[in-house]
Amino acid sequence: MEEGLGSHSSIANWVLGQRVSLLSIGAEFVDDDWRSERQSVCDSCEYKAKVRPDGILPEVDGCGKCKCPFDPKVGILSHYRRSGQEDDKLTKTEMAQIVAMRKFFPSLFVRSYIRCPHEDGNKWEAIDKKHKKLKK
Ligand code: SF4
Repeated sequence: MEEGLGSHSSIANWVLGQRVSLLSIGAEFVDDDWRSERQSVCDSCEYKAKVRPDGILPEVDGCGKCKCPFDPKVGILSHYRRSGQEDDKLTKTEMAQIVAMRKFFPSLFVRSYIRCPHEDGNKWEAIDKKHKKLKK
């Protein structure tokens, strides 16, 4: 049977595609415990909302502040960005530049750590600090 855009498998395929794309820009992911601690902060946040991946897929839980689906956002530790563009929304053009140019012009790119965008400050900070220390 053919998959429609409204199906759960279309979301699962989108998440898988996102993870593959993130790996192509050097993504590191947090482990399950770390991810679930971040997720419980998001679950009790006033910005928890329904967001629509790619504008056409079915709505899923996500961050209403940055409009990112929790999967994969909550599980990402870091990935490369164009230097100076770390605070802008990551676009497909920038991703293509990272993939094509980072090997030849490494100084143009920086590893960027994924943060919670809450205006009161990064609500994942204490969790991230704790897990980074445990990893050392
Ligand atoms: S603002 Fe932070 S804590 Fe709140 S939903 Fe977004 S990422 Fe999660």
